[in-house]
Amino acid sequence: MSEPAGEAKGSRESLEGRAAALDATDELGKLRAQFVLDDTVYLDGNSLGALPRSVPGRVEDVVRRQWGSLRIRSWDESGWWTAPERIGDRIAPLVGAAPGQIVVGDSTSVNVFKAVVGAVRLAGGGGEGREGAGVRDEILVDATTFPTDGYIAASAARMTGRTLRPVAPEEVPDALSGRTAAVLLNHVDYRTGRLHDLPSLTAAIRAAGAVSVWDLCHSAGALPVGLDEHGVDLAVGCTYKYLNGGPGSPAYLYVRRDHQSRFDSPLPGWNSHADPFGMTPDHVPASGALRGRVGTPDILSMLALEAALEVWDDVSIDAVRTKSLALTDFFLECVEAYVLDGAVEPVTPSAHAERGSQVALRCADAGRVMRRLIEQGVIGDFREPNILRFGFTPLYVGFGDAERAARILSRTL
Ligand SMILES: *Cc1c(COP(=O)(O)O)cnc(C)c1O
Repeated sequence: MSEPAGEAKGSRESLEGRAAALDATDELGKLRAQFVLDDTVYLDGNSLGALPRSVPGRVEDVVRRQWGSLRIRSWDESGWWTAPERIGDRIAPLVGAAPGQIVVGDSTSVNVFKAVVGAVRLAGGGGEGREGAGVRDEILVDATTFPTDGYIAASAARMTGRTLRPVAPEEVPDALSGRTAAVLLNHVDYRTGRLHDLPSLTAAIRAAGAVSVWDLCHSAGALPVGLDEHGVDLAVGCTYKYLNGGPGSPAYLYVRRDHQSRFDSPLPGWNSHADPFGMTPDHVPASGALRGRVGTPDILSMLALEAALEVWDDVSIDAVRTKSLALTDFFLECVEAYVLDGAVEPVTPSAHAERGSQVALRCADAGRVMRRLIEQGVIGDFREPNILRFGFTPLYVGFGDAERAARILSRTL
């Protein structure tokens, strides 16, 4: 906050004017009409994406016709059985993956478990229960991770006889050694909005002979990821944030093609069997991405997600990234202009290369401030201990929303 507050306050008209001009030339602006929204400023799409208009009718059809009339025939005739791979292929271009490497199903938490144990098994260097351990006996985990990833990595470490070491993402290159089996990192920090350097960290992990696992919850649908291009080994992500799949919509697992034949899931359910209806006593893993499946897919949520993904049909993720950065830049500029010096402090990096699609502001009494904002129609969220979090979903948030949110924030403070 470097501008003198008194002078900056006079700029409301010019900021409103700039917002209107930016919205008028925004190529993605027309997509907002594809979502069910009202006149609140919705800046919480990084927690629960808004409802796409295509979803309610699809869910109605899935329930009434596919389930109600076709019943069991829908496993084939309505494409239920193959939905996890089909929808995985729909997500793939958004995260830079060629087809056949992503499967949809289960929660992010469960996929973190499959990926971390799978990564340790891919890395080799000592079997589970420590026979022959002593080589790759460490798992590194993002010290600032979303909690569920850390809890599950700790359990995976116990189960596989490895030691879990929390490390800040930027310190991973120094922490890597011949002892590292797997490294679990968040692409964008859920609290601060910091974007970590996936290409260079992945390269460092690979050079150390370890296996990378990236959590894309806060990047997929908000910015290009480039999984194939950057040589990521395994990745997971949720679909109810920037992908707008709906509350609890199933997550996904990416297994790089080169690893698929050796990927050994710790949850080898019958859906990942090469011949699921053979009903044999032994598990023979299917080939390809479907090795990541477990049990019967949650069809209702999954097909709601498939409908939600239609909004991406003519949208490039690069255009989304360009608008996302413009929106967060503009919001930060409005906050700097409107909010009294020192009342909030941005914790999201100002460098574009280090910024996701949210702005986090440190603020005294942040929980109460956010409650007051929500009462006034600006929906963000509060994260412990003192963070106001504003997520910018370029598909439906405009520059006018950013200006209004900053103005109401300054009034509230
Ligand atoms: C949102 C989020 C999750 C959520 O996990 P669920 O199993 O879907 O509850 C996990 N990891 C990260 C980094 C997240 O941002």
